[in-house]
Amino acid sequence: MRPLRNAYLDALGIDRWVPRDAPPEIASIPETVAASPMAAPVTRSAPANTPFVPSADWGTLRERVAACTACAELCRTRTQTVFGVGNTNAEWLIIGEAPGAEEDRQGEPFVGRAGQLLNAMLLAVGLPREQVFIANILKCRPPGNRDPKPDEVSRCLPFLANQIALLKPKIILVVGRIAAQTLLATDAPLARLRGKVHSFGEPAIPLVITYHPAYLLRTPPDKRKAWEDLKLARATYSRIATGNA
Ligand code: SF4
Repeated sequence: MRPLRNAYLDALGIDRWVPRDAPPEIASIPETVAASPMAAPVTRSAPANTPFVPSADWGTLRERVAACTACAELCRTRTQTVFGVGNTNAEWLIIGEAPGAEEDRQGEPFVGRAGQLLNAMLLAVGLPREQVFIANILKCRPPGNRDPKPDEVSRCLPFLANQIALLKPKIILVVGRIAAQTLLATDAPLARLRGKVHSFGEPAIPLVITYHPAYLLRTPPDKRKAWEDLKLARATYSRIATGNA
């Protein structure tokens, strides 16, 4: 998945997330990039090698997401797309996996019990939900809350990349294994990814990984580890804010 993800980000002119200890790599642009929904979000009939043209403003991007029918199954089963929510001037970007049933109904990420826990986690480090921007890797709910398929992730990733380009966050907090593995293009388990600061692009945007709140609801003992992650993110952000990064 790494070359494909990189190809999308390169097409966007957006720097990539790169673990600090990652080896250098050469990303080739696979032909499947031509299938990007960003090229033709409604018709799915874009000519081969049509480049993705990022939207220059939030409103246009939101409309493109709402009109997207690139994933046949997802756009047939969704109630609506879930674009993301929050302050478009936020310095914190929270990224999860995909909408669940409640998010699909309400059109907003992280609502319901998991959303309430995420809000509490953010507040614990002094961040009201209104001060951050929250988005998912996928903008449509996978039916039955199954995992996103790789081709769905590949199709939807340009939307997130465009969101990041518009937001220019100072720090990214990734919640959950699938979002973390997708963004870091790795199969490493969450336990090996959390507890450290990854970085995105040049100049580097710090990226910290923690558990998905839905997992924490099922596994309360791991809330202690999530708290350590949040403190790491907060300390990292504080260093940036004070110019000591
Ligand atoms: Fe489009 Fe993303 Fe929804 Fe797929 S998941 S239909 S790419 S908005």
